[in-house]
Amino acid sequence: MNVHEYQGKEILRKYGVITPRGIPAFTVDEAVAAAEELGGKVWVVKAQIHAGGRGKGGGVKVATSLEKVREYANDILGMQLVTHQTGPEGTKVKRLYIEEGADIADELYVGALVDRETQKVVLMCSSEGGMDIETVAEETPEKIIKIYIDPTDGLDRAEAERVCAQIGIPSEAVAEGADFLAGLYEAFVKSDASLAEINPLVVTGDKRVIALDAKFNIDSNALYRQPEIVAYRDLDEEDPDEIEASKWGLSYISLDGNIGCLVNGAGLAMATMDIIKLYGGEPANFLDVGGGANKEQVTEAFKIMLKNPNVEGILVNIFGGIMQCDVIAEGVVAAAQEVGLNVPLVVRLEGTNVEKGRQILDASDVKLQTATTMADAAEKIAAAVKA
Ligand code: ADP
Ligand code: MG
Repeated sequence: MNVHEYQGKEILRKYGVITPRGIPAFTVDEAVAAAEELGGKVWVVKAQIHAGGRGKGGGVKVATSLEKVREYANDILGMQLVTHQTGPEGTKVKRLYIEEGADIADELYVGALVDRETQKVVLMCSSEGGMDIETVAEETPEKIIKIYIDPTDGLDRAEAERVCAQIGIPSEAVAEGADFLAGLYEAFVKSDASLAEINPLVVTGDKRVIALDAKFNIDSNALYRQPEIVAYRDLDEEDPDEIEASKWGLSYISLDGNIGCLVNGAGLAMATMDIIKLYGGEPANFLDVGGGANKEQVTEAFKIMLKNPNVEGILVNIFGGIMQCDVIAEGVVAAAQEVGLNVPLVVRLEGTNVEKGRQILDASDVKLQTATTMADAAEKIAAAVKA
């Protein structure tokens, strides 16, 4: 689950990480009132969407008067903000964050994430803040310094201070920099984050170390114990089809291709997507109907897949273990009839009651092709959408 920048900063502040003061705003008037309440002479009007690169896209503007705050709030609120992370259609801005302007002396980078190889949390620190860290990683990887943290020992203070100095934090601010890293690490662990990225972390003119941006991804599997973070959820930022799917107990992720896949089990769903690609096709979605899907869920799954205008064919790949193939076959037939299926359909069933399932498919008047193996199924659907 993603949260907005201002929510990420609320999390950071709980663990002692310093951020500029700021107030979220949902209307232009609220934005101006927020600036008045913050006081000072410089404010930053920031679009709140679940994507980075807002600055370059025109979603972050520095205002030096309340009139300018009003003007920028008016410009940004409701705009279709396009960044390298939103896709070409962009995301509509519905929230703003009004923040006091910081006196930036230097922009640095720090990101916390889980390193699968070492099974540790790693802090990636760099002097190259404010820009795309992916570019830094590619072109100048030596400028990213990593601190691997053993969960039983926690962050090593001396190492944290050394790395702070290495990324260019001036010596008088190194202790504060180490506090920052410690706070970030604690925020990451306590909020069950999978990513916490501060880009930029800045050193101010008076040598404070503060977080100017905050991006948090929270591990969805941990949300049951993170009620405060669940409250941050912004459904406007999520794919409506994915929300609809989750209501039906379906795990659905929309993708860019044209072959809808309906599969039971996450592993089989991944393998199905792989084999579709192997045969030259492109999956339009990941969809796991779970271990014990019923007819209604299968029907909803079809509806959700077909809402995607790019879908030109559907592959059903079911392994009947707990789920019985005849039940699934009935579901597929009923769903195809209910939604008036008009794209090619390939069905591969295997496992419990497979013969009964195949008979149901054969006996129905739904136009479909059956397949025996996964390869057979992938080849058939890839050919059908090309035809
Ligand atoms: P994004 O990464 O989505 O572009 P950021 O929050 O990183 O958004 O803001 C982009 C840039 O805007 C920052 O690198 C910084 O230069 C400037 N900026 C952001 N917030 C402030 C602030 N409070 N004071 C001064 N400058 C800011
Ligand atoms: Mg940023």
